[in-house]
Amino acid sequence: MNTCGFIDAAVEESLDAIGEALAENGKVVVTGCLGAKEGVVAKVHPSVLAITGPHDTQGVMAAVHEHLPKPHDPYVDLVPPQGVKLTPRHYAYLKISEGCNHRCTFCIIPSMRGDLVSRPIAEVMQEAENLVKAGVQEILVISQDTSAYGVDVKYRTGFVRGKPVKTRMLDLCRALGELGVWVRLHYVYPYPHVDEVIPLMAEGRVLPYLDVPFQHASPRILRLMKRPASSERVLERIRAWREVCPDITLRSTFIAGFPGETESEFAELLSFLQEAQLDRVGCFAYSPVEGAAANELPDPLPEPVKEERRRRFMELQARISAAKLQAKVGRTLRVLVDEPGVARSEGDAPDIDGVVRFKGGKPGEFADVLIERADAHDLYGRRL
Ligand code: SF4
Repeated sequence: MNTCGFIDAAVEESLDAIGEALAENGKVVVTGCLGAKEGVVAKVHPSVLAITGPHDTQGVMAAVHEHLPKPHDPYVDLVPPQGVKLTPRHYAYLKISEGCNHRCTFCIIPSMRGDLVSRPIAEVMQEAENLVKAGVQEILVISQDTSAYGVDVKYRTGFVRGKPVKTRMLDLCRALGELGVWVRLHYVYPYPHVDEVIPLMAEGRVLPYLDVPFQHASPRILRLMKRPASSERVLERIRAWREVCPDITLRSTFIAGFPGETESEFAELLSFLQEAQLDRVGCFAYSPVEGAAANELPDPLPEPVKEERRRRFMELQARISAAKLQAKVGRTLRVLVDEPGVARSEGDAPDIDGVVRFKGGKPGEFADVLIERADAHDLYGRRL
């Protein structure tokens, strides 16, 4: 069971999932971030077979071999173990770095994962090429901070198919854009150099999709959050991105009810939302994660206030998202089929965004679908 230990809701969900797995077959090995807090898991679920932390593939494999000894096979025993791909055959996550150099006050990821360590560009590209050879049609670039890729190694030059390429987000996007598959960028902070990637989206080399966790719009709250790139003029930037790439889909996440957030600062957030017209948005009520610096800030808000602000935020965004989807009715969209009848357009990342529903299709196949109607989350149409 891979787990998340970030906010309280994630801890609860992970513990519930471990409970379900135990009820299902009784043999559970726990790994991931919550595994790092061994005591928490052991207290609730003392019967798990082993608890390992993030990145501990060896620990997981050792526990699996201990409880489920591997039959000896002279043919495969000498083959080095490969990573295990958990996604369907046609899309894959490509992790380009681990850790983060920022210290957002609500976040404990740097204390769990450490400072930014970028993977060498040659290694990342090799993995991407292997995935494409194995049939992957969509690569989702992930990290804690994609736009910071290469900062830790001073953008060191590596070699990709004999050509020098810098360990840098723009160069990575260019190289991935040559693989002939969908490339989707997640967790991109709005640093100025992100603007350079937008033309690649307009040219169709990477998907016109940007997942930018803005978290808030009030300058004071952003400062209290110690957010990276918080002073960039976000609305202006969004307008400029849309000028270069009118079809860009913008996804973001926000926190409502951060300690000390006043009603007028929250109103500032709502008016930002109205102005920005983002396509997909998630919002969390502030959750005091154990060990986060923000817990020490003055004037924490009562639970009902945080929850009420989150609700108002989501009501406004639901109207915006629904109108944005409605505007797609009558258009023909290229989609990638996840399962018969369920596909995703360029604007939909797996699991977090909506889907496009139509009759037919095989997993991993592209199709052109005429959109006939929309609801609050999904689009519906017919194949052309
Ligand atoms: S940028 Fe901030 S929120 Fe994101 S991982 Fe780093 S510290 Fe956490």
